[in-house]
Amino acid sequence: MDKLSRKTALVTGSSRGIGRATAQRLAAEGALVAVHYATNEDAAQETIELIEKDGGRAFGVRAELGVPGDVHALFLGLERGLKERTGGTTLDIVVNNAAVTTPAGVQPEDVTPDEFDRLFAVNAKAPFFIVQRALPLLPDGGRIINISSGLTRVANPDQVAYSMTKGAIEQITLHFARHLAPRGITVNSVAPGITNNGGPVFDIPEAVAQMAQLSAFKRVGEAVDVANVVTFLATHEARWITGAFIDASGGTLLG
Ligand code: NDP
Repeated sequence: MDKLSRKTALVTGSSRGIGRATAQRLAAEGALVAVHYATNEDAAQETIELIEKDGGRAFGVRAELGVPGDVHALFLGLERGLKERTGGTTLDIVVNNAAVTTPAGVQPEDVTPDEFDRLFAVNAKAPFFIVQRALPLLPDGGRIINISSGLTRVANPDQVAYSMTKGAIEQITLHFARHLAPRGITVNSVAPGITNNGGPVFDIPEAVAQMAQLSAFKRVGEAVDVANVVTFLATHEARWITGAFIDASGGTLLG
């Protein structure tokens, strides 16, 4: 506990799912967390309340990613929130977690150019410009963690366009890791497998049983399984890991 006291963190898409669990874990270690969301204000507020109930600190930032002015809007709210609470705008930890997926059952033949552009705008372009915009706020020893997916290593034709965006976010990791190493800033990718994000499919026992077979441990991941990995990467103890692809899929990639 308290491995991140006096640190500040931004977790994009932390109103729900893996992002929420990550915001909770970072806050439990003492970080002040900016809970970012697109539209679901009630869910973001619930994340903040869960954090505060456990004695942590958090504030909400609304900004839809993938639209013009998205990163500017995000950082306006972020900097305001940080300034109010810390007197400055230092941002120690950036977690690029928010993403959209291809709707279930869309074959590669049916992906439209608009859908393709939206996937890239939210999942790849926004994280790139978030990192770029965060650079002046990140102190030496800062942390950038990009949430990828096991689908950059396993074929799933229905998710080809989504997986391409995750390939792109892994490139952000690779190249910025080199670029920021002189400042002691680490940049890593974390790749979840199927993870219970509270979505409706996880209420269907037969579907869960089927998905569980993909993991070497024969269960679906819980959001906190991934959040724990992200939180470790955010600590000082993880300072020797950079540019890495961390498989947080419960052995799904073992085949
Ligand atoms: P969820 O779908 O549960 O939550 C998505 C979050 O991102 C929400 O906070 C949502 O905000 C936000 N968000 C979505 N679209 C936008 C947008 N256009 N602009 C801003 N914020 C947006 O996500 P998961 O927990 O399932 O996934 C988290 C990460 O993990 C993603 O990067 C995903 O690709 C990756 N991943 C997830 C897997 C899984 O099985 N769950 C497997 C592999 C990778 P709001 O609540 O306001 O809509």
